[in-house]
Amino acid sequence: MANQFKPETLCVQAGWQPKKGEPRVLPIYQSTTFKYDTSEQMARLFDLEDSGYFYTRLQNPTNDAVAAKITALEGGVAGMLTSSGQAANFYALFNICEAGDHFVAQTSIYGGTYNLFSVTMKKLGIECTFVDPDASEEEISRAFRPNTKALFGETLSNPGVMVLDIEKFARIAHQHGVPLIVDNTFPTPINCRPFEWGADIVTHSTTKYMDGHATAVGGAIVDSGHFDWDAYAEKFPGLCTPDASYHGLTYTKAFGQGAYITKATAQLMRDLGSIQAPENAFLLNIGLETLHLRMPQHCRNAQAVAEWLEQNEKVAWVNYPGLKSNKYYDLAQKYMPNGTCGVLCFGLKGGREVSIKFMDSLKLVAIVTHVADARTCVLHPASHTHRQLSDEQLSEAGIAPDLIRFSTGIENAGDIIADIEQALR
Ligand code: PLP
Repeated sequence: MANQFKPETLCVQAGWQPKKGEPRVLPIYQSTTFKYDTSEQMARLFDLEDSGYFYTRLQNPTNDAVAAKITALEGGVAGMLTSSGQAANFYALFNICEAGDHFVAQTSIYGGTYNLFSVTMKKLGIECTFVDPDASEEEISRAFRPNTKALFGETLSNPGVMVLDIEKFARIAHQHGVPLIVDNTFPTPINCRPFEWGADIVTHSTTKYMDGHATAVGGAIVDSGHFDWDAYAEKFPGLCTPDASYHGLTYTKAFGQGAYITKATAQLMRDLGSIQAPENAFLLNIGLETLHLRMPQHCRNAQAVAEWLEQNEKVAWVNYPGLKSNKYYDLAQKYMPNGTCGVLCFGLKGGREVSIKFMDSLKLVAIVTHVADARTCVLHPASHTHRQLSDEQLSEAGIAPDLIRFSTGIENAGDIIADIEQALR
């Protein structure tokens, strides 16, 4: 369906295509398990010789229909849902990295991902070197080692809304024989399709715009099918040599372009079980049906708020890639000509205390940990999401102590600005 239809149609119709007499709407397959007629049929599933459902810890038809929709939107060949965006990023890397391996990531990423990479994965023996995404190709290349297995970036960083130069990152990754993994949560495939610019694997926190209504935590991984794992077989033995836990099956040989997602499902989901609840996948699917309508409204509102803030004398600085004054304006025009996202950040004159007082004075706009849903919300990363980071790490992540992260919803822009105005007063 991906090649045939435009994103608007894919948002509504991709994934679940009912046959005669089946429900028009994607059903929730609320079942842990699936029935077979013979022991032999079941045995073939366990050997990966047949595809089919047997236990929801690995796969569920509701989830797979939604994963297929996201895969179609991204223009990939295979995809899977995970229980959260954190699980998606962990699986995306752990699928090709093991103890003793290394990967390179952009410094300015979501605090939870930074913590996962710098603390938790380190405990598993996997090391990450963080690089400034705006550094030269030579400088970023210096971070690579013989045991480096991937390069990771965020298309639009949370919370700094820096725009990733995807083509530059893809070039660097491919020069070193590793895939580029991109977290495309903030623009969504409506505003940016990283595969068209050379990225190999895309991840999502579907908790954000894809769900769009702040109802269900979830994640997704999509494979472009472009990366030639066998060309670097010595780097990726997990994909290119026999898997003892599946009777010596080799994923690239058995599944071709489906190798990466099949391994992540058959091995990581089987052993770690971070499956998305089918009920959450159902809610996510309803959100996806309007993603193409909501994203432009998020962008229009964020643009109006950013332009208004930029003119206000109480505002010290505003960061939104849709502003002509923004450092990333040109990159945003290149990669996301129809708009970036609804998230922007700014600081108030008077610093941290004034910023906190301002947030406490908002009435329509709520203080919540979330971003990127229909209701406008606000957060102070240095006190909230990123409070585990040191001042040095905060500055590396592009987060000033006075930074207010403002997630513009899809309400009326005038009403949002009026609330900001009264809070500033
Ligand atoms: N990636 C990005 C860009 C995020 O903003 C977030 C959460 O805010 C995550 C990943 C983690 O996603 P989740 O909260 O669904 O685990």
